[in-house]
Formats: sequence, structure tokens, C-alpha cells
Amino acid sequence: MSRKPRSELIELDECDIAPGSVEPFARAAAVLAQGNVLALRINPPATTKEVAVSRARSALIAIAQVLMERHDLPAEAYVEVDDESWGTPVAPFRDRRFLLPHHDGGHCSFLTPSRLDYADLDPSERVFSATVYWKRPSHKVYQGFLVLNPGVPPGQTHYYNTLTLLWDAFSYRHCRAPASLAELAAFAVENVRRSKENQATHGSRYLTLGALLGSRDFAHHVMPSGPRAESELWPAQYIALPALCEMVDRCPCGTCDGPGARVFCHACAHTLGRVWPEFQREYEVTVVGAPYDVLIGNNLTQLHAAESSSSRTIRPLCIVLDRPEGDAYEKWLARQWRIWYETCPAAPHAAQVI
Ligand SMILES: [Zn+2]
Repeated sequence: MSRKPRSELIELDECDIAPGSVEPFARAAAVLAQGNVLALRINPPATTKEVAVSRARSALIAIAQVLMERHDLPAEAYVEVDDESWGTPVAPFRDRRFLLPHHDGGHCSFLTPSRLDYADLDPSERVFSATVYWKRPSHKVYQGFLVLNPGVPPGQTHYYNTLTLLWDAFSYRHCRAPASLAELAAFAVENVRRSKENQATHGSRYLTLGALLGSRDFAHHVMPSGPRAESELWPAQYIALPALCEMVDRCPCGTCDGPGARVFCHACAHTLGRVWPEFQREYEVTVVGAPYDVLIGNNLTQLHAAESSSSRTIRPLCIVLDRPEGDAYEKWLARQWRIWYETCPAAPHAAQVI
């Protein structure tokens, strides 16, 4: 893997997804196992939404099975099919929305290191908040969705390597690259702990990217509603952190459209030395899904963002765990870090193999 994720379209025939079929899914599972983004298309196109959902569910169950058998995914993982989204909520006077880079289920699904790389981490630290979340309490290891209506113009989904961002944030803060994967792991834990210990100040129930990348400015730990670029912040957020007032008025690049985007631009500049448009050029990969395509990627080692019109509808399909803990999970997570680290152009040496 390079600094950006790669996306790969894999097309299967309907006959390939018969019950008990495994081999057709091996290529799809390998894309996910390598930390990349999978676009899955099943031909011929489904004639109804119900058929498309049924096929997508069957395909993901088979892919999860291959991930368990060949790529160390814990045996407790399962496919979670959520309710259809009924249109895309947009801010007042808008007909589109941009969801800023985020982890799905970010109250309990975000990048942490394996305990094999940071033994002092307690699995309970992988929960940022257990109240007021959207929508389910599971730990999402792979997040995906079936495109039901791409909208007009078609929605775009953007992906970013969380580990590349973490590496660059460490390098920007310390004026040197991390000496080892263990040092990068310690940086992640330190940053998550800082944000969690200061929840009374920033009030977020979701870990923001600015927090994960180590910002000491708690305004960067505030999550805009959605998290939409266009969203106005809540009055309580301005009262708790008055510095937000100036941030939402003006961002470092001067071009960000919306209060949420401008706060995000500040956090990017502060932690990475790159404003939001530079962030996109450096880290972003874009995938446009056709009707009934499934788009899915690692929800921990990647963040994703989405630009959608109000008419776009999707059906979330994720591979999840009830609890992110246990020897099998720690081994799988350690492997995910290494898959990135072993191919990172800037890494000084290969990590110890788990
Ligand atoms: Zn900006």
C-alpha cells in the first residue's frame, strides 16, 4: 500500500454468489486484507432493490468468511445490515452535503494500536462514548454500503489512510519521523487519551481527526453535526470554546465552504501543516459507485468522506464485532498496522512480524 489507499472494482456474476461459494470472493477479500477499498459489482444488474440487498448481503457474508479463514479476521466478526437511509440530510438552503472525513460509528470505532504494540492499552479505551450515537453500538472494522440511488450528480466517496495521516502528524509535531511502529502506536494512544480526558471541555462523543492527530487545541476536538462541512455548530459548543467563533468565520486557506469545513481546515493546518485543499490533494482517493455497487473499506486504518445530493440513498453494510478485544482481534489489528507500515515509503525499517 502506498500513502493513499487504492480502490479496486471487482465484478462477479450472479452464479458466483451461490451458497457455499468461496473462491470468487478470494480476490475481493484480498483487496480488503491489503487495506484497500473494494467496489463490488454483481452482474447482471439486479432488477429490484430487494434482490440487490439480498445479493450484497450474501456476498459480504462470503467475503467475511474468507477474511476469517485466510486473513486473521476474528471468528466473532459478522455482517451488519443497517436500515436504508431515507435521503441525505442537508443543511438549510442546501441541496448537497459534504460529510467530512470520519470513521463510521466513531463513538466506538476508531484507530487504536494492537496491545501487541502497546501493551498498556485497555480495550475499554476503544470506546470514546457509549451515549447518543448513530446508530448501532457495534465496533465497525469494515464500513461499507450498497448504493441504492447515487443521486444527481452521483455521490462521491473519498478515502484516506489514517496511518499515513498519523505518521505525518507525528513528523510535523516532532520534526522527525517516528523511529518505530511502537512509537507511532504510543502517539495514537496519547492522543486518544488526551481527547477522552478532556471530554468535559469539548463535549464530543466522537473522536475527531484533529484529536486523533494530537491537537492540543480542544476546539479541534469539536465534531460538527453530521459531521457535515456545511453544519453550523451548536450554541453550547461556542460557549464552551469561544475560539470556535473566529475559526468558523475564517479558515487558513480562505476557501472552505461552511462552518464545519472551516474548523476542520484549522485542525488540518495545526496538526499536519496542510490546509483542507492540500489535505485532499495529498491523501484523497475518490470512488463513484454505480447503482447497486457495494463500496467497502477498513473503517479503522481508513477514514472516509462523502459528497452527496439530497436524493442519494444507501443501505449501510458493515463487517463488525461486538467487542474489540481478545487475542484474535489484537493479532488482526497488529497485522493491519504492519500491512501499511511494511509498504510505507517513509518507514525506516520493517516492523517485527506478528
Ligand atoms: Zn480552508
